Amino acid sequence: MTPPHPAPPIPSLEELAISARVVSIPMRVKFRGVLERESLLVRGPAGWGEFCPFLEYDDAESAPWLASAIEAAWFGFPSAVRTRVPVNATVPAVGPDAVEGVLSRFGAVGAVKVKVAEKGQSLADDVARIGEVRRLLPDADIKVDANGGWEVGEALVALDALSRFDLQYVEQPVADIPGLRAVRLELRRRGESVLVAADESVRRQEDPLLVAREDAADLLVIKAPPLGGVRRALDIIDRAGLPAVVSSALDTSVGIRAGVALAAALPDLPYACGLATVSLMAGDVADAPLVAQDGHLPVRDVAVSEEKLQRFAAAPARRQWWLDRLGRAHAVLAGVERDSFGRENDTGKSHSGNTGSTGER
Ligand SMILES: [Mg+2]
Repeated sequence: MTPPHPAPPIPSLEELAISARVVSIPMRVKFRGVLERESLLVRGPAGWGEFCPFLEYDDAESAPWLASAIEAAWFGFPSAVRTRVPVNATVPAVGPDAVEGVLSRFGAVGAVKVKVAEKGQSLADDVARIGEVRRLLPDADIKVDANGGWEVGEALVALDALSRFDLQYVEQPVADIPGLRAVRLELRRRGESVLVAADESVRRQEDPLLVAREDAADLLVIKAPPLGGVRRALDIIDRAGLPAVVSSALDTSVGIRAGVALAAALPDLPYACGLATVSLMAGDVADAPLVAQDGHLPVRDVAVSEEKLQRFAAAPARRQWWLDRLGRAHAVLAGVERDSFGRENDTGKSHSGNTGSTGER
């Protein structure tokens, strides 16, 4: 078990706001229903940090994202045990004819994550999309992400239909933990090799360790920002005792750097990580973006480009919206007793409210 971390005082809102830059970066493909990804970047003594909770998240759910940005910019990252991190390509819920174009943005990869169970689509759409991935990459590890979009029965029917593609794991097939457990037990009973990964059931739960205690998943998909940063994520993975895959939240290279730091610090990293998502964006804030080379991201710092910060600067009204949000998230963080950055003693403002959600799209 990782010992508790020291309690770094969080910077004041003024310190954060003085360096804050808000960008709006166009996406190459629609993701989570958006074609622009907005983000607020802050600069501290250790470098840049990224604060980019999705727009619909409330202040309590956004606060750990700010803790993660502060960790990056004020405290830096724990030491790395590897120099590069294996990554997967990500294929959104596109038609089969668009798959090759999406894959081409990632270069050579040994693993692909495919989105399935998209609202308004059918199992036949998923089969066609995954079939095209398998046709183009016969030897790749393929995993699918349903974002909790199936019911238990639907998940079992779908996974039966998809078993011909030799899937490595299915991420969040259903929305809740009892459902995950039921799917996992039935797959084991059938002798299927596909594993069950928990994503939303870790990061949108009040207790991120519940899924592990309930034996509801074989592995965890971990994003550093919703858990409050790299150190807290390392602690949760350690306590869960399950393998982890590190994933991004569609961040710029600044946020990806935090994910790379987490993946680089993990003692074991058995699966390719979902950190190659800068390739899904039509711009970035770094001169040398963190994009995959030969299926890996290098473990290195990111130099932010002033020219790109200006080129992708958000409109004034959006900038103000993000500064207001920064202030509210800061107030939530400041209200949490800081006996450690990683283990807040909650004073009543918990990360509640979204636990039953079907989560990220
Ligand atoms: Mg996911």
